[in-house]
Amino acid sequence: MNELHTLGVAALAQQLSTKKISSVEATQHYLQRIQQHASLGAYLAIDDTVSLAQARAADARIAAGEHTPLLGVPIAHKDIFATKDFATTAGSKMLEGYRSPFDSTVVNQMSRQGAVTLGKLNCDEFAMGSSNENSAYGNVRNPWDTSRIPGGSSGGSATAVAAGLCAAATGTDTGGSIRQPAAFCGITGIKPTYGRASRYGMVAFASSLDQAGAMARSAQDCALLLSAMCGPDLDRDSTSLDVPAEDYSRSLNESIAGLRIGIPKEFFGEGLSADVRAAVDAALEEYEKLGARLVPISLPRTELSIPVYYIIAPAEASSNLSRFDGVKFGHRAAQFDDLTDMYKKTRAEGFGDEVKRRIMIGAYVLSHGYYDAYYLQAQKIRRMIADDFQQAFKQCDVIAGPVAPTVAWKIGEKSDDPVANYLADIFTLPASLAGLPGMSVPVGLGASNMPVGMQLIGNYFAEAKLLNAAHALQQATDWHTRHPAGF
Ligand code: GLN
Repeated sequence: MNELHTLGVAALAQQLSTKKISSVEATQHYLQRIQQHASLGAYLAIDDTVSLAQARAADARIAAGEHTPLLGVPIAHKDIFATKDFATTAGSKMLEGYRSPFDSTVVNQMSRQGAVTLGKLNCDEFAMGSSNENSAYGNVRNPWDTSRIPGGSSGGSATAVAAGLCAAATGTDTGGSIRQPAAFCGITGIKPTYGRASRYGMVAFASSLDQAGAMARSAQDCALLLSAMCGPDLDRDSTSLDVPAEDYSRSLNESIAGLRIGIPKEFFGEGLSADVRAAVDAALEEYEKLGARLVPISLPRTELSIPVYYIIAPAEASSNLSRFDGVKFGHRAAQFDDLTDMYKKTRAEGFGDEVKRRIMIGAYVLSHGYYDAYYLQAQKIRRMIADDFQQAFKQCDVIAGPVAPTVAWKIGEKSDDPVANYLADIFTLPASLAGLPGMSVPVGLGASNMPVGMQLIGNYFAEAKLLNAAHALQQATDWHTRHPAGF
């Protein structure tokens, strides 16, 4: 029982279905740990009554002989996903205490499969950030070193999984927000192809980039979660793809002999710290031992992905966030002179600094006279970045590189310097701009004994290939089984 939180999804599901443990017991164990480690700041909302009722319902289904992979497994959701039973804040004061009248599609699909929701996880405000320091509800601490950031924006999800405060979690990734915190906390994360998981009920940041995904202890667990999350939702999400859900567990044990792994030279140049490079190189050597072949490739516009992303994402954000005006829902200023004054005060009070910065940048790059020079130009380069990947995939099956240039930094170290945060996104932005699936796999410990993540990028719909490659590595190495001391 004491080690239950180290099991992960697959092993826990096994214990649940053989009735070695009940979902109520597992849920109670996690709820207790959440209280015990509240100082990590991972959770924004919990409700024992709700979670235990779900656990009892799952136990009844198990007793009736039902076997679905997530049945009775306690998970938690990034606070970007709308939930009926828990408040949904998106890490913003603007939505403090907000109750959605519906569940997002991702939450709904996982609940239907019998997953128990433990609560909602802290994140950067409206998912804007790389350190979780932009949350209006406080920092999240990295369990490997509590003076460090967990990464962001899905920082609460990464810390909760790494510290054993849930069996697995959902996250969202617009420019790296699943992959980078997964790397910084030593867990496994996957962002599927854009359009694979429904955006319905996900608080919108940059709609052409936002994508839900899974964060867990292993590729095997990610496969179980992702199979439940994905699938068409054509009536509710206009960019949902009409491609049936897949069982990603099925091909996990296929051999990777002959797999061609593309190594983009732009991902291994200046700016990549030596400790991260060493861990990624060691993993690549391991892949060679497993029969994979390393192929040098080039993604020549890698550096451009930073200015391109930081034009397109704010542009879309400035449009999406115009709905928070104090009229229909969310925060409204208590005192104001007239309607315009109400808008102004509501937005000045409700949004944090980073969000305001992005709204201003977004409004600027979309404005008359600047649209062609910035937004349109960025869209053109975005297309070229996507084309570069298609060129690369003529030579290789998957692409590998680092997730981030360094390990997790100290809380406060970059909080006054937005550009320093933006630059650290360099390796995750290209796949996001192209809409490609990407993964983070733990491959070692770097400076200050902090985890290092390797990124795997696949072509459209190659999630199964990525999970298979990650699983093969995890059968040969044990980095994904390491825990931060004390958790
Ligand atoms: N760090 C990036 C940003 O601040 C990505 C965030 C995300 O993927 N949600 O926009």
